[in-house]
Amino acid sequence: MHKGMLVVVSGPSGAGKGTICQEIRKRNPNLFYSISATTREKRVGEIDGVHYYFIDRQQFEKMIANDEFLEWADVYGNYYGTPKKPVFEALARGQDVILEIDIKGARQVKKTYPEGVFVFILPPSISILEERLRKRGTEREEIIVKRMQMAWEEIANCDWYDYLILNDDLETAVNDLEAVLTAEKLKPKRVNYRVLLEGGVLIR
Ligand code: 5GP
Repeated sequence: MHKGMLVVVSGPSGAGKGTICQEIRKRNPNLFYSISATTREKRVGEIDGVHYYFIDRQQFEKMIANDEFLEWADVYGNYYGTPKKPVFEALARGQDVILEIDIKGARQVKKTYPEGVFVFILPPSISILEERLRKRGTEREEIIVKRMQMAWEEIANCDWYDYLILNDDLETAVNDLEAVLTAEKLKPKRVNYRVLLEGGVLIR
């Protein structure tokens, strides 16, 4: 069986990558969404095992020591990491996997898994990004300031990604991501010619 495709989506907080990923999952129910582990506090409405695995620093550090992460990073003073096992199991089953992670994590994945597809979500503008972060109301002022600084830095360093998607209009951005997935699936390295031939698709 052909291996699944690993898609890594990052972008500054408030750029809307979470919403875009949610929509793309609705359109592609077979897409495996990796649930990250984090040491940050649960926000209102978040569910353990659905949005994140909420664990403490000690547990997280133990997982680092046991090499259980595909990547991990310290983001705004909290640890976030992608458990390796479920991702590789899904890929081996032929399922495509989507990771929604920060830019430091994405760089690590690029090193260890360069055949991944790397997508960066850009906000319509810096001022809209700030407005969205404030509207969310989940963060304290100092964290908003930190996230805005990070956003500038991330945007200035996003040119190594395979695709940049501007999230000006949600529908357009989701369509763009879908187009990326479709195009990537058609690359010769991902098309299984044996199946096409032996399945008789090309000889009829
Ligand atoms: P939030 O706290 O707003 O849910 O996420 C903060 C940042 O951490 C976002 O940029 C999000 O994409 C990133 N993030 C979430 N999970 C992971 C992960 O497993 N690894 C890394 N490196 N970043 C993550």
